Amino acid sequence: MKHHIFLASPHMSEEGFEQEYIQEAFESNWIAPLGTNVTEFEKEMEQKLGAGKAVALSSGTAAIHMALKAIGISQGDLVFCQSLTFSASANPITYEKAVPVFIDSESDTWNMDPKALKEALEAYERVGKKPKAVIVVHLYGICAKIEEITEICRKHKVPLIEDAAESLGTIYRGRYTGTFGDYGIISFNGNKIITTSGGGMLLVNTEDAVEKAEKVLYWATQAREPARWYQHTEIGYNYRMSNVVAGIGRGQLKVLDRRVEKKRAIFEFYQRRLAGLSGLSFMPMPENAFCNCWLSVIQLEKDCPVKPLDIMKSLEDEDVESRPVWKPMHLQPVFAGCEFLSREKELFITDKETGADNSVSGQLFERGVCLPSDTKMSEEDQERICRVLEKLWQIEGM
Ligand SMILES: *Cc1c(COP(=O)(O)O)cnc(C)c1O
Repeated sequence: MKHHIFLASPHMSEEGFEQEYIQEAFESNWIAPLGTNVTEFEKEMEQKLGAGKAVALSSGTAAIHMALKAIGISQGDLVFCQSLTFSASANPITYEKAVPVFIDSESDTWNMDPKALKEALEAYERVGKKPKAVIVVHLYGICAKIEEITEICRKHKVPLIEDAAESLGTIYRGRYTGTFGDYGIISFNGNKIITTSGGGMLLVNTEDAVEKAEKVLYWATQAREPARWYQHTEIGYNYRMSNVVAGIGRGQLKVLDRRVEKKRAIFEFYQRRLAGLSGLSFMPMPENAFCNCWLSVIQLEKDCPVKPLDIMKSLEDEDVESRPVWKPMHLQPVFAGCEFLSREKELFITDKETGADNSVSGQLFERGVCLPSDTKMSEEDQERICRVLEKLWQIEGM
């Protein structure tokens, strides 16, 4: 019997570090609300990443929400957001009744196109408008052109939020992703490179990081004033990470480098093993970047007779999980009517069924497949996956 292969599943440390930290929490009865695991996890993340201030929260989505609030986003404000991403990057914009404007990707990094961002900022400036924030994503752990984007934002004086939910461990020129923007966010959701079962972290990298982190802590704990009674002057949220969950995080952080190494080995295996399949290419590995390879993603050329859906279906028949590339936000019904800025000036639908268009992000969506990237996979498992793909190419006589 062949076993199921996951796309990416939780992978606790071989040493059982997580259990030790959880045990500590139980013994001290610091199950909730806070305790040393939370504060230590924050410190350990700050040290590991070289971030200003870290605040442990209940999810990556909550971290984006808190970053927007810390910037002061309110009703009607514009926020520029990368279109090719998971909806959680954009949803918090609407929590504050702000207005998302989506920016296309570039083929070099699959992430926000710096040229499209620059043009968008200039076009809005010409009509006297300016976004209150920019959200860039390091999709699948691939590093965006973060220095260029940081520079553009600095020049236009717009705060930058770096969605590093998928890129924990990715390094650009010696610096971890999540530490370039004014704010960075990390996710510890179940399928991410390390997990706490569910959780997230906000990284505050501004000059007034201590103050901003304190403010976020206050909003994230129901906006309780330091009074003897329950006193509130602002609306709060229940967004803080629990001490038990933080214990899992501390254990997982110890094996982050090991997981990155394995993810990279998985990607290299696919590259080596599938190199001969014509019309198939791999996600880019940008220069000067060390990628965590959270998911291994392939692209099929337009005229490739094998289609992404063929691959996903054949893998499913073999009890192997795979996934399409994220469907861009500008193509999502929920964001219909939002502005979208691309270098592609004439947009048209290329796939009636999925609604994909000819933008860079639309094409990455239409032609991409995320291959299983579970760190528990063996080389035999990967071999099994590669044989499924090879067979498809053989059927097509390629
Ligand atoms: C997972 C993810 C998030 C959200 O993180 P949660 O912890 O699940 O709330 C945000 N952005 C991207 C790109 C993600 O992949």
